[in-house]
Amino acid sequence: MNNNPASFTLSIDWEDFSQLLGRDHTGVVTPPVGKTIDRQTDLVLNLLNDSGKKATFFILGMLAQYRPDLVRKIAGEGHEIGMHGTHHIRMNTLDRKKAFEDLRDNYNLVTDIIGAPVYGYRAPYFSVNETNLYVLEILSELGCLYDSSIFPVKLKNYGIANFPVQDTLYQLPNGREIVELPLTVMDWRNKKLPVAGGGYMRAFPQFMLKNFFRKLDADQKDVMLYMHPYEFDDRWISCSPNYPPGTGYSRPKSFLINLRWNLFRGTIYNKIKYLLNHYHFVTCLKKAEYVKEHSHSPAILGRS
Ligand SMILES: [Zn+2]
Repeated sequence: MNNNPASFTLSIDWEDFSQLLGRDHTGVVTPPVGKTIDRQTDLVLNLLNDSGKKATFFILGMLAQYRPDLVRKIAGEGHEIGMHGTHHIRMNTLDRKKAFEDLRDNYNLVTDIIGAPVYGYRAPYFSVNETNLYVLEILSELGCLYDSSIFPVKLKNYGIANFPVQDTLYQLPNGREIVELPLTVMDWRNKKLPVAGGGYMRAFPQFMLKNFFRKLDADQKDVMLYMHPYEFDDRWISCSPNYPPGTGYSRPKSFLINLRWNLFRGTIYNKIKYLLNHYHFVTCLKKAEYVKEHSHSPAILGRS
């Protein structure tokens, strides 16, 4: 969006930490443990409610199937509902047919739960890259208006080098169109840093983040923040909650994983609160509609 002031968007990849870790470790999908996802969802909803801002929640199918009530609660508070896939698998490890099935099942489940269409998607692990751009075609065929899965910089596990950083309407090989809302990166000392979520957002001190976002806003750059429910929770999270005997991580591995997930996590709540209270926020859908409406002609996205 090239209007002034720049727009920020808070996107939440709505998933349960222990359900995902358990599935990744045992291969079995089980209901989320306890009421953690309730508390974490409420933390986000209350923060948004206090600031009067709306966010986009990308809903993971394997969680939504057990907690449709929470999905309806989020939608009922006026936030946008999008998709985060069914099985939380790296999309670039699936062939086109399997990718379609994962997205179709996610679309059907979520639209059934809320009784309304959904228009956008965030891939697990930002796993849309130059090898599987057909994911965008699948989304367009499901009726989606936008995708927000691409990091416009090549990082260790994801991203596309030199992908345009601005929100853009693309013409797809299947003749349809889609708006891509890339994740925000910040130019810093000749590097592009993914400051708008994840480990960078946790580790960077607040004064540095304030400077980064002030500069992005001054340059009228849109900002896509990406978060997870557990990041708003200052309670300790553990990678070894309820595994069957003998299947847990070793002690040193548990220690390292827990350190990674817990270090500086308690700082996130106030960082996001500050941004919500100081900047103009819109949902992904509002942003995508604006881009589509104000694009004279779509850019061409190459067939992969
Ligand atoms: Zn995820």
